[in-house]
Amino acid sequence: MTDPVSRLPGLAVIGGGPAGLMAAEAARAAGVEVDLFEAKGSVGRKFLIAGKGGLNLTHSEPMPGFAGRYGARADEVAGWLRDFGPEALRDWAHGLGVDSYVGSSGRVFPMDRKAAPLLRGWVRRLKDQGVRFHVLHRWLGWDDDGALHFATPEGERGVHATAAVLALGGGSWPQLGSDGGWVASLQARGLEVVPLQPANCGFDIGWSTHFAQRHAGAPIKPVVAHWFDSTGTGHALQGECVATATGIEGSLVYALSAALREAIARDGSAMLWLDLAPGRDLERLRRDLGRPRGGRSLSEHLRRQAGIDGAKAALVREALDATALADMDRIATTLKRLPLRLLRARPLDEAISSAGGVRLETLDDGLMAKALPGVFCAGEMLDWEAPTGGYLLTACFASGLRAGRSAARWLRQRDAGQGPGAAADH
Ligand SMILES: Cc1cc2nc3c(=O)[nH]c(=O)nc-3n(C[C@H](O)[C@H](O)[C@H](O)COP(=O)(O)OP(=O)(O)OC[C@H]3O[C@@H](n4cnc5c(N)ncnc54)[C@H](O)[C@@H]3O)c2cc1C
Repeated sequence: MTDPVSRLPGLAVIGGGPAGLMAAEAARAAGVEVDLFEAKGSVGRKFLIAGKGGLNLTHSEPMPGFAGRYGARADEVAGWLRDFGPEALRDWAHGLGVDSYVGSSGRVFPMDRKAAPLLRGWVRRLKDQGVRFHVLHRWLGWDDDGALHFATPEGERGVHATAAVLALGGGSWPQLGSDGGWVASLQARGLEVVPLQPANCGFDIGWSTHFAQRHAGAPIKPVVAHWFDSTGTGHALQGECVATATGIEGSLVYALSAALREAIARDGSAMLWLDLAPGRDLERLRRDLGRPRGGRSLSEHLRRQAGIDGAKAALVREALDATALADMDRIATTLKRLPLRLLRARPLDEAISSAGGVRLETLDDGLMAKALPGVFCAGEMLDWEAPTGGYLLTACFASGLRAGRSAARWLRQRDAGQGPGAAADH
């Protein structure tokens, strides 16, 4: 049953993640009445989970390197960051009583590495400022008469809003609320949506049962990953990965996930070569491993002479047959360039974030949909991607601010009779 349709006095923000909350804050600061709708029983669930890993808020890398992390979308995201960049984000958190520090990796964390105090303080402040929260309101799209259509525990409800910010997230970890269910509604209204894909994700390799059983969860560090891009240019990156039951994950793999995903789409699989002994060159390894083994097992020899054990040693066994394992030269070469064939990305629901989303070309500079005046989009539901390291949250906050401010400006112009005549009801 559909309840009588209500009309909002100002802006509807749909989605209570970092992008939606920031849009609500920005619009409210500009004097707009804001109603925020959230499908779950509370806001910011993914943000809270991010806090379990230490809440990497942003990164200390200076521009333009910082913006370069957004790859093909570096220019657009740089524009959002000019209004709300990493420093502004740290100041904003400070304003909520949360100081931050730069870790040894350059990543920025709250002092207590927790998300809950920041989120609690923020929601309290938003409520004090007059933002009205409507939880357990799942947006289903637009009614035939253009009202925003919600499912609530009391039944379905229509809400007319002059303007709306959609900040519905991507499609990873759907149990936290963002499940990509919005894609069809927006496509039906003429918005171009690039299919959501896993980003910052693991990849399947297909280990032997023995390796999977013994080494799933084992860190593989430090290593240097080598790979070739689509133009045949070689690249290398040092970092850490983790063996999984089916393949590999971890921050190093996440950082390469866009390139690996594209290689798999193009070639059917992606090759990665791991240097398992970054501290020693091939000559030294050959020399060290060439020393007499005596009665020692191969494992003991590898450990003593090359410092290789655990999952790293198991990877060498996984790659070489019995004959090759008797040849120290082959082992040394394999340690420096262990070949891994990545078959497929793990599913989107396991990924840290999503690639794909609303194509930025279908939005104007203020993140308003060109085809839907008064409808703005922000956060991870937009078509950009970035590695972990605080870059994800930073772009969500910055795009939320841009969308909230633009919506407030649009409403003001409309009220003053200067803006486009159409309402956001679609
Ligand atoms: C395990 C994990 C750890 C992470 N750690 C970090 C980190 O340390 N640093 C970092 O930068 N990033 C991190 N991220 C990524 C970061 O959390 C996300 O990029 C960010 O939360 C996206 O913000 P958002 O507001 O766009 O979307 P979300 O945070 O996904 O919020 C969207 C909101 O919209 C609601 N919603 C969705 N559909 C509807 C609907 N139809 N109707 C009403 N409401 C709806 C959802 O319930 C949700 O509350 C992590 C992600 C994961 C999964």
